Amino acid sequence: MKYVDELRDGATARRLAAAIAAEADPDRGYRFMEFCGGHTHAVFRYGVPDLLPPNVHLIHGPGCPVCVLPVGRVDAAIELARRPEVILCTYGDLLRVPGSRRSSLLRARAEGADVRMVYSPADSLRIAREHPDREVVFFAIGFETTTPPTAVVVRRAEAEGLANFSVVSNHVLTPPAMAHLLDSPELDGPAAPSLDGFIGPSHVSTIIGSAPYEPFAREHGRPVVIAGFEPLDVMQAIRMLIRQVNAGRAEVENEYTRAVTRVGNRKAQELVSAVFAVRESFEWRGMGSVPGSGLEVRPEYAHLDAERRFGVAVGQPRENRACICPSVLRGAARPTECTLFGTTCTPDHPMGSCMVSSEGACAAHYAYGRTR
Ligand code: SF4
Repeated sequence: MKYVDELRDGATARRLAAAIAAEADPDRGYRFMEFCGGHTHAVFRYGVPDLLPPNVHLIHGPGCPVCVLPVGRVDAAIELARRPEVILCTYGDLLRVPGSRRSSLLRARAEGADVRMVYSPADSLRIAREHPDREVVFFAIGFETTTPPTAVVVRRAEAEGLANFSVVSNHVLTPPAMAHLLDSPELDGPAAPSLDGFIGPSHVSTIIGSAPYEPFAREHGRPVVIAGFEPLDVMQAIRMLIRQVNAGRAEVENEYTRAVTRVGNRKAQELVSAVFAVRESFEWRGMGSVPGSGLEVRPEYAHLDAERRFGVAVGQPRENRACICPSVLRGAARPTECTLFGTTCTPDHPMGSCMVSSEGACAAHYAYGRTR
């Protein structure tokens, strides 16, 4: 299959591994973060770390939308779902994410709340049409890739005059989060080994393009190489990063030219800007409050904004202290450093969001038998 088989070819992977080994300077280490959870799964699924020289390290980033949702927002979703007039619609993974005191949307549903799993925002719009006597709330999560479909349903609900539909926006933005990670003392401070560059996200970049990474690559002096999800994409991106580091360059390069351009998808960007505004700051699990990193529904669509409509408040959560998801999400710890990993916490019985989502680092370590 074109663009699949040729990017998974073992012989080419071995040649690329040899080229990486030849170009990596043995007298230094390289630490590259794959921001996106999809890349984390790809590197483990295809054994990419085993093909790299021992001084080239991959650090998992926070690019998993379910994982980065703070527990306080999970609690808010549960509280909203418990209102008798509400049908709360959201994606399947989110149902299993533990809130405070081991609550979850799944548990709330077992206790009588009307929580529906949907595959797309359009499903929740259909449910709203089918239940005009109920308040249907779409609890939206995701990075720039999933924001345009949410914008579409907000506009459609407006056009149809659907009075019983609204959205909680938990949509987040990638470039501010990457910049924030570079400001993190755990990753970039004098006491910690430095991060040498990023493998940039694939799908997010198809929407936003490569240009939004340029300011922080320049300001923080860290290269970014946008890569596709196939193993040879990731290996080629690592090679490009090593070349930049060796040459003392910090530029944005695009390995994924078959899908990503510098400007991205302008139509999707316009749609998102028409419906959403950038929040002053947004709380990320593990990273705290990140300036300019979240989207809220614009005042023009206030009647479709469930946060305003229901006065959704995000309180102080009670987190499971044994779960080190927050450190895993900012690349400061590996999943296997968690004492619950693979014992108390498994994909069937997740204790934290990083084990729930198929894009979570703990789930990836567990699925592919990584013990380090
Ligand atoms: Fe949290 Fe489970 Fe990962 Fe530990 S293994 S950090 S408890 S999700």
